[in-house]
Amino acid sequence: MNRLFVALALPDHVRAALSGLRRGFPGARWVAEENFHLTLRFIGEVDNRAMDDIAEELDRVREPGFDLELDGFGSFETKGKVRALWARILASEDLNHLQRKIDTALDAVGVARETRRFKPHVTLARFRDAPLDRVNELICEASPFSAGPFPIGSFTLFRSFLHRDGPVYRPEMVYPLDGDAFSDPYFDEFRDDDEYDFQDENAVPSH
Ligand code: ATP
Ligand code: MG
Repeated sequence: MNRLFVALALPDHVRAALSGLRRGFPGARWVAEENFHLTLRFIGEVDNRAMDDIAEELDRVREPGFDLELDGFGSFETKGKVRALWARILASEDLNHLQRKIDTALDAVGVARETRRFKPHVTLARFRDAPLDRVNELICEASPFSAGPFPIGSFTLFRSFLHRDGPVYRPEMVYPLDGDAFSDPYFDEFRDDDEYDFQDENAVPSH
């Protein structure tokens, strides 16, 4: 089975800036620098055939690129305990529009809808039972923080491999926005990276 999600990869300089926010905090699992991303849609475990259908359907999404900006922090809590600390994405109608297009594309191949409202964020750290006031102190120490505007020229179908020492995300397909692969700022980066070999037997054919 393939654990999939659709996300925006972030430029190197933005990931480096996010990585600089990492500090000592008991029980925190900080996201590795190479892993920072903005999830548009979590898909979950699917077989190879469904993965092919998903990859093909996503290829039909045609949207323009846009800029994004990070500003400040937020957290997800359950039962008074913080579970995740994230960097906030400044509201973007272009981003919301792309996310809806991807939702619609995935409806067509029978991926179950996410019931929660889309809340764009970049997860920085996950916690086991962190008290809210300690996380708020951490946020104060790290503030102010902002990054961008930076260009988003593609979205990515990632495959996630969960390991004991943290997840590895592998781009299975990179979909250029604007419909022009050569205007995409991340395309060459992925293609040239030895770790991300698009030619291997797991790669999804684009057609
Ligand atoms: P780990 O599970 O080891 O903490 P992770 O959450 O980063 O690592 P995945 O669980 O594969 O790795 O998730 C990949 C992406 O999808 C992450 O951005 C994660 O927040 C998001 N995600 C995972 N599960 C869900 C879910 N049930 N609903 C919405 N988003 C999810
Ligand atoms: Mg997870």
